[in-house]
Amino acid sequence: MTANTAPALLDWPPLDAAHFARIEDKIAALMRTRETVVAMQGEALLPLEACIRSAVRPGSTALNVVTGPYGETFGGWLRSCGAEVVTIAAPFTGAVGAEQVAEALRARPDIDFVSLVHAEAATGNTNPVAGIGAVVREHGALLMLDAVASIAAEPLLTDEWGVDLCVIGGQKAMAGPAGVSAVSVSARAWERIAANGQAPRRSYLSLLDWKERWIDGGRTVLPHAPAQLEMLALEQAADRIADAGLEAVIARHRAAAAAVRAGVRALGTLAPYVVRDEDAAPVATTLRAPAGVDAREVVVAALAADPAVPVQAAGGALAAEMIRVNHYGLAADRGTVLASLAALGKALDALGLAGDAEGARKAAEAAWYAASAG
Ligand SMILES: *Cc1c(COP(=O)(O)O)cnc(C)c1O
Repeated sequence: MTANTAPALLDWPPLDAAHFARIEDKIAALMRTRETVVAMQGEALLPLEACIRSAVRPGSTALNVVTGPYGETFGGWLRSCGAEVVTIAAPFTGAVGAEQVAEALRARPDIDFVSLVHAEAATGNTNPVAGIGAVVREHGALLMLDAVASIAAEPLLTDEWGVDLCVIGGQKAMAGPAGVSAVSVSARAWERIAANGQAPRRSYLSLLDWKERWIDGGRTVLPHAPAQLEMLALEQAADRIADAGLEAVIARHRAAAAAVRAGVRALGTLAPYVVRDEDAAPVATTLRAPAGVDAREVVVAALAADPAVPVQAAGGALAAEMIRVNHYGLAADRGTVLASLAALGKALDALGLAGDAEGARKAAEAAWYAASAG
């Protein structure tokens, strides 16, 4: 027999329908929605693609707000559904404004679908969804929001903001599993989806299947065997947040972002990539490497100083200039943030660049406490 120190993953009794429904209700509470929430049995890209394929059809005009890599992915799906796509692209140094969205909607009264990412872990920015939601609602389009990187890191008021399709995942600030996700669907969105002959049916991408086979029957019979372990982990993540208090978890993420931004400014040489504090995502802070220095070298040196810190190079075209400091889930923690800054200080030192590590520590500590109190 092999020594086994892993948690018990086998031989669980089946996850029954009542328990599955209870987990959906816990997620709905975290999302601040009274609309239908479906726990999708896959990573968050599953409900994101399902929303677009369900609500969009040839003849649709979609406004796609691109503030990072996920928005670019949505554009491809929208086009493949036959929609004409109007794009607003915001620089990764900031957020998109409600006025910009209002202007795009005024220019194209035929826009009937808007896709938006709330917070972008990859680029470290967050968008003002309350204001954007209000202009989209006034225009009459459906609003889809990717809240994977915002849930539990910052306020997410799905119903109050008029979000018709809101997608969350457990793997970021919830500190939960990546293999299941959830989407809330408003009554307006269900009407649109039901009227769309092209919406997926009898498909893993189908929201309508869940409606017909699960919701309309009162959530008493599961349509297929659920991803049980992932669902149980998602429930534990939701319970842990409820026990700590959602506000306290959000405050911890807010404090982490404030501390990294203040610390990096005091450190010098590196700078927050997102210019204004109000546009910075609480989930991750992106940093700009100085001219002539490859961001990847800074990351390698930081990880050489402390391999445990959640510091990574950005993806794709940004890899040479952007450093990403993650502070979500368990990493939204004072000690982890201070260790990340210390590792960056040592990295600058190793590369022969200037940096005030002690100043960074003090500034980060002060910002942590100020933001936790606020
Ligand atoms: C993290 C994230 C997702 C999910 O993507 P993974 O790379 O699978 O974690 C989706 N949308 C946004 C905005 C995210 O930050």
